[in-house]
Amino acid sequence: MTNSRFAPVSESLRLGRATLRDVTPYPTERTACDADLSDNTNLFGAPPAALRELANAGDDDISRYPGLHTRRLREALADYAGIGLDEIVTGCGSDDVIDSAVRAFAEPGESLAYSDPTFSMIPVFARVNGLIPVPVPFTESLNIDPEALLATTARIIYICSPNNPTGTLASPDAIAQVIERAPGIVIIDEAYAEFSGGAHIALGPRHARLLVTRTLSKAFGMAGFRIGYGTGSPALVREIEKVRGPYKENAPGERAAACAVREDIEWMRSCVMQAVENRERFASALRAHGFEAIPSAANFVLVPLPDAAAVARVARDFGVAVRPYSALRGIGDAIRVTIGPWPLMERALDVLIAARDSVRRDHGQTARAGQRQ
Ligand code: PMP
Repeated sequence: MTNSRFAPVSESLRLGRATLRDVTPYPTERTACDADLSDNTNLFGAPPAALRELANAGDDDISRYPGLHTRRLREALADYAGIGLDEIVTGCGSDDVIDSAVRAFAEPGESLAYSDPTFSMIPVFARVNGLIPVPVPFTESLNIDPEALLATTARIIYICSPNNPTGTLASPDAIAQVIERAPGIVIIDEAYAEFSGGAHIALGPRHARLLVTRTLSKAFGMAGFRIGYGTGSPALVREIEKVRGPYKENAPGERAAACAVREDIEWMRSCVMQAVENRERFASALRAHGFEAIPSAANFVLVPLPDAAAVARVARDFGVAVRPYSALRGIGDAIRVTIGPWPLMERALDVLIAARDSVRRDHGQTARAGQRQ
């Protein structure tokens, strides 16, 4: 990917680690789009208590290092997760918790196994920490395959449930098998668990080698604060804190998030209920218009379709941003659509139909021109 903010490729090739030459920075700068359904955040808004508390932030929240609200946030999260205070670790997004865990529990040269396709940062976290990423296929029904994951004998096995980008759940039995038999650490990423009803969050501390990660970026509507957390035994949590380093969450965010986790659970649950209802309605509408929509347990739907990049480009021109994927294993090209309020989804549906038909027409014209030559 070209990105003018970074040094010319030839220069960065000389500067960077040789083994990371083909890794590209995750694109974080966004251009505004009328309806942005591309990042699985809470499209119903931000929690009211967080907005109120943010307005109360004082000089100390900005001029001093964070720490004043750290304990309050961890207490709120521990109560929410139903675990003890020494069984929770926070970070700059769950990204940070997962990355720190990879660094904490595996030596360079060891492996990290995961079902493919999954959260795109997982192979990157493996590689930048010197590990070998080992992708393993899902079963035909898009469940994780415990035997295939365990056969890797990887030091770390990562399970994402509901999985990004498929939206599918790993079965409780398959997860239990991996936890029981894994030779090393198991990470269960539950970034979207609030939308699925299923939860392993309280299980984290009950197994010596299990970490369960969650985030405030999705159902809780606080992606801008960059706060994620994980649950595990006190010993495991301590190892992660050791390598994570200090002050990864920002003070105004900690302060506001602590209030939201205490006071806005009902608000969060009502957003989740609307997202789930709209997800089912949107998936049915897509199917009625000839799209395939993989049944989802998250706040997004994955829609396999040819030439996803072109469809996403045209949709953006029409004011709707979705996330395109190319050649996902076992699925092919697909677009991922975040679920929000119904008027937004109606608009997305119209735009996706128009974008698909426009790309089809272009293909038809190209094919006919080819035949004439
Ligand atoms: N896990 C999964 C499965 C995700 O989709 C994401 C974000 N897209 C994350 C973790 C990271 O989220 P955050 O760092 O905002 O907590």
